[in-house]
Amino acid sequence: MADLYSQLMRMPVTSTVGKKIGLPQPVELARGSSEVGGRVLLGGAGRVAEAAARVLKAMGADSATALDDPVRESAARAGLDAAVFNPEAPADQKFRALVFDATGIVDSAGLVELQRFFYPTVGRLQRSGRVVVLGDGRRALEGFTRSLGKEVGPRGVTVNLVHVDEGAEDQLAPTLRFLLTPRSAYVSGQVIQVGSGSERPVAGRTALVTGGSRGIGAAIADVLEREGATVVRLDLKDADVELDITAPEAPEVLAERFADGLDILVHNAGVTKDRTLAKMPEDRWQSLMEVNLLAPERLTDALLPVLRDDGRIVCVSSMAAIAGNAGQTNYATSKAGLIDLVTGLSLERGITANAVAPGFIETAMTAAMPVGVREVGRRLNSLRQGGLPVDVAETVAWLAGSGVDRNVVRVCGQSLLGA
Ligand code: NAD
Repeated sequence: MADLYSQLMRMPVTSTVGKKIGLPQPVELARGSSEVGGRVLLGGAGRVAEAAARVLKAMGADSATALDDPVRESAARAGLDAAVFNPEAPADQKFRALVFDATGIVDSAGLVELQRFFYPTVGRLQRSGRVVVLGDGRRALEGFTRSLGKEVGPRGVTVNLVHVDEGAEDQLAPTLRFLLTPRSAYVSGQVIQVGSGSERPVAGRTALVTGGSRGIGAAIADVLEREGATVVRLDLKDADVELDITAPEAPEVLAERFADGLDILVHNAGVTKDRTLAKMPEDRWQSLMEVNLLAPERLTDALLPVLRDDGRIVCVSSMAAIAGNAGQTNYATSKAGLIDLVTGLSLERGITANAVAPGFIETAMTAAMPVGVREVGRRLNSLRQGGLPVDVAETVAWLAGSGVDRNVVRVCGQSLLGA
């Protein structure tokens, strides 16, 4: 359900007035579907193009390439039946997604290929469209994608950069699928690293979601169930396992509960106890730290031995961990500590660990904010609106099913803070 301001800006009269006085015009984001929802233009020629073409073929995506683009050869090798796009074609020839393989850019002079590909095509993107640039670690691509995201975000278009390690081209599929479909509605301006870890579908696996009885945790549990996982929701009440994660016996109770094995561990339970540092007594600091960081650390230690091969750990961090936030020194410390937890774990047996960092998500927590702060928080991102719990949940489900490892992915609509 859109917020009141967004609803007003979608009504004919108020939207006309809003446009005249320059108010942001949030578009309704496409969500839910696992289909791209329109034609995909593939361009650029490097070592990842063929793998990208194979993903498009497997998705059954309506695809096109420019006639003189060397990518046509990669597409042909992948068996992708791509239509021909003529950049001179009338402007009403639209695309839902643009995918550009920039790994063929070998020096700075080659960066002009970005301009050449996107100049005639970016204006053809439909609302809620997608741009995915495939890279090889080149930093210049970050400046490009983040700026483009800010230009096209107001139309609900997301722009993300995926660096693909040499030799990991075949592991691109789950990430490209996620980024091309409405499931990544609120993920924009991100840089994702794809390494050699393999896809491991969520179906048939067992998952534990802490804080799973409401808000973002409930959405994560719902989406993992939709994908075919058996989910155990843990919470203080109204849950499959009613337990305080800070209780001294919690690690042991859970290790016993999952003695037969666990596949996916989602650390989502979290609290805020905001106050500026000068007014933050130790018990306020420490009680938050117990829930948000120390308990996830203890539970991870206790559950790692029962985590099956190819297990997945996903922590729900926060944009505050990256950008910082006045009044949230305790919260931001704990949420940044979760990123340390993810990146510091020494993992074997195909187990991966990642973090998602939500920005402004429409939940009971954000509904309780003062109106002015809430309204500013909601609009200060490229998509000009708050995200929904399901947006975080879809991102967690992608990480739980892909081989992506040690990434921190913001689900923030490309927030202007801490970018
Ligand atoms: P929420 O308060 O609606 O849900 C949190 C859940 O965690 C609740 O059901 C609560 O009972 C449970 N919980 C709290 N302490 C617990 C404990 N000691 N043991 C077991 N369960 C416990 O919050 P939400 O908005 O859904 O947030 C979920 C997560 O996302 C949190 O970690 C939060 O910090 C993070 N987050 C939220 C936002 C946002 O905009 N809502 C933004 C960034 C990060």
